[in-house]
Amino acid sequence: MLDDADVARILVIAAHPDDIDFGMAGTIATWTDVGIEVVYCIVTNGDAGGNDPSVSRSDMAILRRAEQVAAAKCVGVSDVRFLGYPDGRVEATIGLRGDLARVIRQVRPDRVACPSPERNYARIPASHPDHRAAGSAALDAVYPDARNPFAFPELAAEGLEPWIVREVWISGSPQPTHFVDITDTFDRKVAALRAHESQTGRMDNLAEMLRGWLGRSAAMGGLPEGRLAEAFQVLQMP
Ligand SMILES: [Zn+2]
Repeated sequence: MLDDADVARILVIAAHPDDIDFGMAGTIATWTDVGIEVVYCIVTNGDAGGNDPSVSRSDMAILRRAEQVAAAKCVGVSDVRFLGYPDGRVEATIGLRGDLARVIRQVRPDRVACPSPERNYARIPASHPDHRAAGSAALDAVYPDARNPFAFPELAAEGLEPWIVREVWISGSPQPTHFVDITDTFDRKVAALRAHESQTGRMDNLAEMLRGWLGRSAAMGGLPEGRLAEAFQVLQMP
């Protein structure tokens, strides 16, 4: 696995505003704390989220983008990009692969983090169809699209050189292989999730719920009692 000291940039790909904060904001804070530059790329604007029918979907998209930008600030991230795909209808199309390959070539990350393309039967909400589609397209964009000079010739025409991502961290995987102790950054993760007020505003027991999930992940990873962890499947890319 890459040592964080050898990582300059990380691109985090997600389907919806708030996915990153539920899955890995604590880990991201550990990365930005050591000076790694982290960029977010969110495939949708989250316009199918929330429970309030009086809010128009276009207003919801504007609100959720702003919430995600505020959440990113809580964990040291200021570069947040949105692809604007419709929420609830993400598919792993050639078009999405090309859009993600473009962002990979622009950001030139050593490590990419993305959702799992696999259904996790133990965590159904983590396996939302948009998450699986975004994860599948992200992995294809990492390998082979971003590195293949002949894939998506429009990217070369835009002046974007091929780029080899060295490592992928999958969030929500049914087979986690790596557990990051986030006990010390937990408060910033909670603050990031609170920034998604349209989604978490009614979750009075948010911190308690998170402690339950993250404590179970820590136990699965063999961390000492009382620690909290986020779990990943880490892939070394050829
Ligand atoms: Zn989501």
